[in-house]
Amino acid sequence: MTTELLTTPGTDAAPGGRIRGLRCRNCARQERLGPSYVCAACFGPLEVDYDYDALDGVLTRERIEARRPGIWRYLELLPAEEQPLRGLAVGSTPLVDATRLGPEIGIERLWLKDDTRNPTLSFKDRAVAIAAARAAEWKLPALACASTGNLAGATAAAAAAIGLPAYVVIPADLEPAKVDHALAYGASVIPVTGTYDDVNRLCLEIADETGWGFVNVNLRPFYAEGSKTLAFEVAEDLGWRLPDVIVAPIASGALYTKLAKGIGELVRLGLVEPKSVRFVGGQAAGCAPVATAYAAGVDEIAPVRVPDTIVRSLAIGSPADGRYALEQARASGGSIEAVSDLDAAEAIRRVAATEGIHPETAGGVTLAAAAQARAAGVIGPDDEVVVLLTGNGLKTPDASSFGLATRRAERGGPGLADPIAPDLDAFLSWLGA
Ligand SMILES: *Cc1c(COP(=O)(O)O)cnc(C)c1O
Ligand SMILES: [Zn+2]
Repeated sequence: MTTELLTTPGTDAAPGGRIRGLRCRNCARQERLGPSYVCAACFGPLEVDYDYDALDGVLTRERIEARRPGIWRYLELLPAEEQPLRGLAVGSTPLVDATRLGPEIGIERLWLKDDTRNPTLSFKDRAVAIAAARAAEWKLPALACASTGNLAGATAAAAAAIGLPAYVVIPADLEPAKVDHALAYGASVIPVTGTYDDVNRLCLEIADETGWGFVNVNLRPFYAEGSKTLAFEVAEDLGWRLPDVIVAPIASGALYTKLAKGIGELVRLGLVEPKSVRFVGGQAAGCAPVATAYAAGVDEIAPVRVPDTIVRSLAIGSPADGRYALEQARASGGSIEAVSDLDAAEAIRRVAATEGIHPETAGGVTLAAAAQARAAGVIGPDDEVVVLLTGNGLKTPDASSFGLATRRAERGGPGLADPIAPDLDAFLSWLGA
């Protein structure tokens, strides 16, 4: 194994350009822009560093509003030189006023960010679009990922759209719907007998060995920036305003922490009025390393060695950005909630039946987390709350039937009825008429 990728020079940002390079989140050491992800001095995570002064007065509300829908309307705050010529149509998903569901969980002003509607049915398309743009700019030979599920399809589809081969490395027991989805786009899918953390470790080595663009490994600083577009869209859809609370899922913690970065940027550029937003995070109780540390009031995040949950998309036992997520929850006055599988499954059913949106398990987790935070008083009755629904329920069919299988449709009620004979009397007798 070599460490070549750590030192391979990439394209420098244009002198005086808006992208200054990469910077260590831990020790603030600067690095050139390139496919590297870890600080050579302290092994801390690298982040994209922008020159916000260069954007003052350049990126205005009017300028953004005049552009076409999609994540590239915020180009100046994304780490690509320009909008790629090829790529999927990602972002500008609906912000739904949840007037039926809100009162049920005691939150009168509840918004749902419906990111079940991206090209491959999850918010991962946002992150992958940025990483893919960089892979194309740097002419990397392939697009690859270590996936808990949704990233598989997102990477495979993005690679197809830009004409690169895709290699998708997954835990061997992933949901079949997610595997089939990646295969459909022509990806090579490599199941690994181990947990996601085992997969991730292996991919670090493969990335060094092959030079492939692993969207969430050596392209991670770019990938992670894609999550900010959720915060940008929420603010724009609220009429350039910030909500009181955002409820987001936590797997590696990238999405959760980048929401705060994105909001900070909007404030810095004067696109929204400053406001202290509380961040509520959701994890599945069967793999809740960050929620556990939060509840215990400690800084140390003990890895979960064997995740045990139906919420596969969030099942990262050793989250890369867990530490920063923990700090953000505490500093913002939010919380990190651990949600049981049953509560997540119930929440999926509830939002589907009240708002007509069918999220996957991660959405069940955020909705249940919102209800828990409301019950605990972290969310007040008058707060304006945005809950992120980051993936589509069609990808976790096993979870939809979880707790539903026993729910038979009695006498015209909801659920699956027993088969009836093809005659009206049989139907009317089921209806209870
Ligand atoms: C990957 C994923 C997340 C969160 O991922 P982070 O690693 O925390 O950024 C949330 N929801 C879904 C559906 C996902 O696939
Ligand atoms: Zn460092």
